[in-house]
Amino acid sequence: MVHIVGAGCGAADLITVRGAGLLARADQVIYAGSLVNPELLNYTRSGTPCHDSARLTLEEVLALIEAGERRGWTTVRLHTGDPSLYGAIREQMDAMRERGIPFDVTPGVSSLCGAAAALPAEYTLPGVSQSLIITRMAGRTPVPEGEALCRLAAHGASMALFLSAGMLRQVAEELLAGGAYRPDTPAAIVYKASWPEEAVYRCTVSTLEETARAEGITQTALILVGDFLGDDYRRSALYHPDFSHGFRTKKE
Ligand code: SAH
Repeated sequence: MVHIVGAGCGAADLITVRGAGLLARADQVIYAGSLVNPELLNYTRSGTPCHDSARLTLEEVLALIEAGERRGWTTVRLHTGDPSLYGAIREQMDAMRERGIPFDVTPGVSSLCGAAAALPAEYTLPGVSQSLIITRMAGRTPVPEGEALCRLAAHGASMALFLSAGMLRQVAEELLAGGAYRPDTPAAIVYKASWPEEAVYRCTVSTLEETARAEGITQTALILVGDFLGDDYRRSALYHPDFSHGFRTKKE
C-alpha cells in the first residue's frame, strides 16, 4: 500500500495529524527532498529507509515502490505542500493503477495557504476579488496557450504564481499586458513560507523584479499579485449586523 502524503509547505508541525500518523507507521518513505523539510522524517520509526526523490527518475521511484510492495511494506510518498498542485502525482497514480498497487492521498497545507498566513492576507476580499488564479509562468513545462499569463491577467483577480520567482521581468510584463493590473498594483514575494528563514517582501507589479534581485530570491517563493494586498475592501455580508442567514438573524 502506498500513501501519497502532503508534507505541508515547510514547518514540520504543519503536516496533518493523519500524515504524521502515516509516517509513524511507514516501512519506507520516498520524499521530495528539494522542498520537504527533513525534520519531518523524525516522525518515522528509527531505521526506516528514507529515499530522497530529488535524485530519482519516475522509474526509479516506481522501482522502490514495487520493491516495497513485494515485501508487503507500507510506503509513504511525501510531497511538498499539497500534492495536487504541481506535484507530478498523476503519473505516479496512473503507474500504480496499471500495476495494481493500492494507494490513497492525504492532503497537505499548500504554500498557497502558508504564504497567505505569512503575510497575513485574505485572497477573496469582498469588493476586491472573489477569485484566485493559481498559475505559473511557462518554463520548461509549457503552459497551454489559453492560460498565457497575459490572458489570465485580464481579470485583475487575486493571483498566486508558483515556480516563477526566477522570471519576474517576464511575469511583470505579462501581468501589465493583461490590462487589468497597474504598475502600482500591490504584489508580494513570499520566500519559504513557514520555514525558519521565511521572508515576506511587499512590492508592486513594477518592482517585482528589482525586489527579488535585491533580496537574492530566485526560487522557493510564491509571487502574489492583486488589490487584496492593498488597504481597500468592503466588510463581509456574513458578519454584518444587517444581514440574516441560516445561523443568525439580522440585529434590529
Ligand atoms: N505542491 C506544492 C508546490 C510544489 S511546486 C504546494 O502545494 O505548495 C514548487 C513551488 O512551490 C516553488 O517553486 C514555489 O513557488 C512554491 N513553494 C513551495 N514551498 C514554498 C514555501 N514554503 N514558500 C513559498 N513558496 C513555496
